[in-house]
Amino acid sequence: MSRPARVLLWLAALAAAAGLLWLLAAWGERAETERLREAGRHRLDVYAGSLRNAVDRYAYLPFALSTHPDLAALLRAPDDAALRDKVNRYLIINKASAQASVLYLLDAQGTAIAASNWDTPQSYVGRNYSFRPYFLQAREGHGGRFYGVGFTTRQPGYFLSYPVFDGRKVIGVVVAKVSLDGLEHNWRQGGERMLVADRHGVAFLSTDADWLWHSLTPLPAETLRFIEDTRQYGRADFPVLALKQRQPLDADTERATGPRGSEVLVQTLNLPDLEWRIVLFSDLAPVRQVVRNTVTGGALGLLALLSWLLFWRQRRRRIRDNLRASAALRQAHDELEHKVDARTRDLVDANAQLQREIAERIRTETNLRAAQNELIQAGKLAVLGQMAAGVTHELNQPLTAMRSFAENALALLDRGDTGEVRRNLGLIAQLTERMGKITGQLRAFARKSDGKVEPVLVHAAIGNALLLLEQRLRQQQVRLDIDQPDTGLRVSGNPVRLEQVLINLLRNALDAVRTSPQPAIRIGVAASGDHVGITVSDNGPGIAEAQLPAIFDPFFTTKSASEGLGLGLAISLSIVRDFGGRLTAGNRPEGGAYFKVELSAVDWRP
Ligand code: ADP
Repeated sequence: MSRPARVLLWLAALAAAAGLLWLLAAWGERAETERLREAGRHRLDVYAGSLRNAVDRYAYLPFALSTHPDLAALLRAPDDAALRDKVNRYLIINKASAQASVLYLLDAQGTAIAASNWDTPQSYVGRNYSFRPYFLQAREGHGGRFYGVGFTTRQPGYFLSYPVFDGRKVIGVVVAKVSLDGLEHNWRQGGERMLVADRHGVAFLSTDADWLWHSLTPLPAETLRFIEDTRQYGRADFPVLALKQRQPLDADTERATGPRGSEVLVQTLNLPDLEWRIVLFSDLAPVRQVVRNTVTGGALGLLALLSWLLFWRQRRRRIRDNLRASAALRQAHDELEHKVDARTRDLVDANAQLQREIAERIRTETNLRAAQNELIQAGKLAVLGQMAAGVTHELNQPLTAMRSFAENALALLDRGDTGEVRRNLGLIAQLTERMGKITGQLRAFARKSDGKVEPVLVHAAIGNALLLLEQRLRQQQVRLDIDQPDTGLRVSGNPVRLEQVLINLLRNALDAVRTSPQPAIRIGVAASGDHVGITVSDNGPGIAEAQLPAIFDPFFTTKSASEGLGLGLAISLSIVRDFGGRLTAGNRPEGGAYFKVELSAVDWRP
């Protein structure tokens, strides 16, 4: 949701909450007011009952008194002092028993002729009450009622009157004045705030002294005149009750601000029989308090709801975040798995590639080895080719000798010298043996070796090599020294190939000493530790320093095309390395070159 939308939503929620609180307040106020009103109505009924009760208690009293014959007798003979005393006493007794304030008897002109208070300073006797409505009503022949302030005593009271008849004629009026102060006192005691007003609206009973003799509404002039005429309340002005901001709720109820600024509910109960009305004032402060409590409660409830909502939202957000995080985690996991898959595939591919390359390598190596074997063989054949002339010479010599021995033998045979024939044939046999040895050696050298590594007797290998080069050694008149203290030394190698290496080294030495004045070649064999070293040295020109690093390279040669191919040393190095040995070269301090073959010694004796 966008930010402005969220702000709008919050504002709407706030407005709704405020509206809700307002409704709650209005509802609370109405309900509480209604409750107060109901309670007020109920109390009004109770107070009306007690008021009626207080008044009705005395309703019979004037009538009962009027029937006493002494009263009528006194009215007829007002000057009878004895009778007046009797009536006075009678009134006193009745006043006491009825708990009335004053009982008195008026004559037809309204003058009191007897009273229960005849002997007190406030005695009514002799006073005229003809202006009082209760007198006028009774003189009309029926009971009268009137509430007013005592004309003589200044005490308010309820006046009940009844005519005293002489036959049908009204000859006087008996009056009972009762006080309602007790009632007023009771109400005040009950903490009630109320007043009782007459039919004009003048409060004549009140729990609040400030309200007494106030009118509920402004009084019209004729009412004021009536009150004055009847001297009902002994006063002439009746200020209007100070109620402000009056707000009628119905015919009998209104809400207003009281004289002390407090809000009140004003309830009126009309008592038509008495022509009075009771007005009850109920303080609205508790209503306000209840409304405040209700609104506070509502606000707290809304706050609780809000915090719950926030909590719920937070929780939802957390759950959503968690879900999102776990989805991200799952995705990451999937991606990882994917990557691992891809990487594994790559590895498998790489591995397969490697396997292929290894196989290729093995194949190449096999091919290389085959090629190498071919090369060694080729090198050997080349040497054989170059040695062919020497070998032919080597074979021709015994052949020529054999021919002359054979011719000699034939001639000797003719001569019958069988002894000499035998010697010649013996020589021929010797020569053929030597020839067979040479050709056998040639065949052995030419044969293709399987390269198998086995113990090789060094002495034999040197002997075989020299046999093939014998003719050249002799032809070049080379001095050959063989320094081999132990002829039983064996090395790990292959006899044919070791022979090939030695032939190569000896042939190079023979080439080197070709120009030497006293050509000499030396072969030294020595064991050192687990190695056997075979050194071939000569007294030729040696190897130029610059060429030393190159002499083992294939096709490196300083000889003419017919003499050298430059393969001899390369092939020899390869053979020696195959045996697990070393082939090194260098110049001797006294001149000439040396070549050293080092091979593992084999401790084997037949
Ligand atoms: P080739 O003998 O066919 O030239 P090699 O590989 O046997 O091939 O020898 C390579 C080169 O090493 C020779 O041409 C020569 O220059 C040098 N060389 C070999 N042996 C000797 C030696 N004993 N004295 C001097 N130089 C030598």
